[in-house]
Amino acid sequence: MNTKHDVLIIGGGPVGLSCAYYLLKSGRKVTIIDANEIGKGSGSGNAGHIVPSHIIPLAAPGVVTSALKWMLNPNSSPFGLKIRLDLKYISWLIQFAAACNEANVSRALEPMKTLGQLSAENFARIIAEEKFDCHYQTTGFLNLYKNQDAFDEARHEAEFMQKHGIPVSVYGKNQIADVEPAVREDVLGGVHFTGDAHLNPAVFLQLLGERIRAMGAEVHENTPVTGFESAEGKIRVVKTSVGEFEAEHVILAAGAWSPIVARDLRLNIPVQPARGYSLTASAIQNMPRQALILGDRRVAVSPLGNLLRVTGRLEVGEFSTTPNPLWIQRLENFAREYLRLDEKLDIKETWAGLRPVTPDGMPIIGRSPLHSNLTVATGHAMLGLSLGPGTGQVVAELVNGSETAFDLRPLGLERFI
Ligand SMILES: Cc1cc2nc3c(=O)[nH]c(=O)nc-3n(C[C@H](O)[C@H](O)[C@H](O)COP(=O)(O)OP(=O)(O)OC[C@H]3O[C@@H](n4cnc5c(N)ncnc54)[C@H](O)[C@@H]3O)c2cc1C
Repeated sequence: MNTKHDVLIIGGGPVGLSCAYYLLKSGRKVTIIDANEIGKGSGSGNAGHIVPSHIIPLAAPGVVTSALKWMLNPNSSPFGLKIRLDLKYISWLIQFAAACNEANVSRALEPMKTLGQLSAENFARIIAEEKFDCHYQTTGFLNLYKNQDAFDEARHEAEFMQKHGIPVSVYGKNQIADVEPAVREDVLGGVHFTGDAHLNPAVFLQLLGERIRAMGAEVHENTPVTGFESAEGKIRVVKTSVGEFEAEHVILAAGAWSPIVARDLRLNIPVQPARGYSLTASAIQNMPRQALILGDRRVAVSPLGNLLRVTGRLEVGEFSTTPNPLWIQRLENFAREYLRLDEKLDIKETWAGLRPVTPDGMPIIGRSPLHSNLTVATGHAMLGLSLGPGTGQVVAELVNGSETAFDLRPLGLERFI
């Protein structure tokens, strides 16, 4: 048995590393355990978008109808669904469908907005204070449209966002090429969330990992957590492939794997994976100026210094992280519909990662209702990078028993009991 650790974090993705950073800053001793290498999992190949504008959760009105419509065209659908005869999964799907309503959006708006804003401010502060060179650009997040109905709907949504304090500019056909010269002529316009940003996530996470080690974190890589021993409302032992760890406090931040890791804790952590892909190519002639979303295709494009990244597809229930070459090719094809890409892309990397998704589309951040020394931080869906630094701050506050930056009750695990 190892000596007793202070705070032990399971998972070194954007959420776990952010928790480690803020805990170390507050004077705590931190141990991170990861099944693989820290900073290399679902956070590294993602689009790198930092989007405080995303205040509407994944479970929102119209999502189920859109998903069903998309599934009629499986070769071009941004959405996929794995059929699995697993009661927990089926129950999750039913709960998700039931949460796609106005009431869920209203419940989520305030916590999503506050956490998003806090995270965006924390990103700016970390990057400036730690002098991270990670291609961080505060040029906003531009949604492009080729379909008039989709553009009209987006304009309507932009008004809603503006009412909630999100800075938005809308550009028509005669302005869009000035704002984003990389677009094709048939792009009708765009909605620009000017308060958003992007960065190279792999570089940011690598620098954060190095900084955390320099601040004294003990890091155990390639060390999967295999179970727990708990008694009297506390976790006594964390079991791993290399032995047992004891800790004052444990943080579960294992992304889409969190329910599997926690299987012997008797906790209901309703998180399912939603796989997505990315391809990363060398810089092209017409590099986009800012982070983009390509309208109906729901494909994200990110200029990352001397690299161009295209990401997309949301496949609910898929656990494998092997990139599917067919979808990688389709993502490139979809990007070509909107952008003037080079005739041949020099592809450097293809990737797949898992978004950890809850049935109401909001993250889970809070203490375990059954264990006084366990905090859960997972379920950030498509925003785990974006919401990482805010999550890290409030988790550190929780663990330290200080007042949290905002009311975390709407994000607690209790909502699923
Ligand atoms: C295609 C795509 C594009 C995306 N784009 C964006 C974006 O632009 N902006 C954004 O904010 N988010 C984006 N996301 C979502 C984001 O990547 C995730 O929300 C984020 O990675 C979740 O972070 P996490 O730290 O909770 O989990 P993860 O990043 O999944 O990290 C979990 C860690 O836990 C470890 N682990 C698993 N099992 C065990 C175990 N048994 N023992 C110990 N450790 C274990 C894993 O190895 C991993 O390192 C995207 C995702 C995808 C797939």
